[in-house]
Amino acid sequence: MSFEPVLLRNVGRPEARKVEGYRENGGYRGLEKALEMEPDAVIELVKDSGLRGRGGAGFPAGLKWSFIPKAVDKPKYLVCNADESEPGTFKDRVLMEEDPQQLIEGCAICCYAVGASACYIYIRGEYVEPADILEEAIRDAYEAGILGDNVMGKGFKLDMYVHRGAGAYICGEETGLLESLEGKRGQPRIKPPFPAVVGAFGCPTVINNVETLCNVPHILERGALWFKSIGTDERNTGPKLYCVSGHVENPGVYEFPIGVTMTQLIEACGGMWRGRQLKAFIPGGASAAILPADKADVPLDFDQLAKAGSMLGSAAVIVMDDETDLVRSVYRLAKFFNHESCGQCTPCREGTNWAELVMKKIVSGHGKPGDEELILRICRNMGGTTLCALADAAVGPLRSLVQNFPDEVAGWLDGGGPATEPRRYFAEEVTA
Ligand code: SF4
Repeated sequence: MSFEPVLLRNVGRPEARKVEGYRENGGYRGLEKALEMEPDAVIELVKDSGLRGRGGAGFPAGLKWSFIPKAVDKPKYLVCNADESEPGTFKDRVLMEEDPQQLIEGCAICCYAVGASACYIYIRGEYVEPADILEEAIRDAYEAGILGDNVMGKGFKLDMYVHRGAGAYICGEETGLLESLEGKRGQPRIKPPFPAVVGAFGCPTVINNVETLCNVPHILERGALWFKSIGTDERNTGPKLYCVSGHVENPGVYEFPIGVTMTQLIEACGGMWRGRQLKAFIPGGASAAILPADKADVPLDFDQLAKAGSMLGSAAVIVMDDETDLVRSVYRLAKFFNHESCGQCTPCREGTNWAELVMKKIVSGHGKPGDEELILRICRNMGGTTLCALADAAVGPLRSLVQNFPDEVAGWLDGGGPATEPRRYFAEEVTA
């Protein structure tokens, strides 16, 4: 399956990091067009394109922009969420490293549309090189008159800053991110009020993911109809980046119309690693339910994956071959979520801890019949009972392990062991 890249069109063109090189490939035509339009018309265009957020939740981007109140006499902000910390996700890093001007253009268009005069790009602390590249690109954009007091000579004022996080998963949650941006501990806020009304520094704020914003210049330049012509249906439109990791020959970031299938992705990656068979896959990062191989022909879009019992999330596709031990894999994920829980909510603080303990007991050889029900009970107590979605995220792999792969769990109970022999995937020694 071939697809002419849109978001990745400047990959391998280091000159595109500068405004001049970016313009050579059609860059900044979207912003030029936006500045000729009324801000509301820009919002309507993005709404009409059907663009949904690419960070995980899939909320319609144009609709989110339209929530910013116009009559409020306060500054308005755009915060670009570049805290890409979902395990398995690395698409935003590629976008920032390879095409930072594309992101700057998308941010500038959004700011113009919602009336924001400042944009903060909140980037995870571990992304040292992408942050350096972005800062250099922003400097160049100021020098070229793309940013500053008079954007492209049209009288629009816009400042842009890169803000480095300190490496906490919970700062990818939008209100945890805002707290961190304001210099506080990165803990999610109670909602409402939502960030569109009370966001950064108490002001109306749009929060969008890097990939979401990178789509915007192309919508402005090529139109909503073009965007809607890509994808599975009117609710799943546009190009999409898939981060493929695990047991394929060539892991990496792949761009396809939203709705490509797992089978097609594996083929694009050069097939399964060493010709092995697919056992399972995670379609949307560590928070998504694990699906069995017989779901490999489900379109990887927001709605079809929801119907199949999982989610597109950040489109971090983790491929697991027939030698993978899923119980140990899920134990590793349970450890991750327990470590990353911010601890504000009892069901999450206690539940993620109990989930790790029960999984540890099983992979230590002390599992007993009934542990499956115990895992499901922990999941029921966590799901939908907390301030933010981290607890629901922790539930995804646990519940799907028990429900979709009961034989894998049963094999470990009563002194058993892995259904398959794990040899390479589990670096950590587990002790009782
Ligand atoms: Fe913190 Fe977990 Fe509550 Fe989210 S769900 S606010 S991570 S304790």
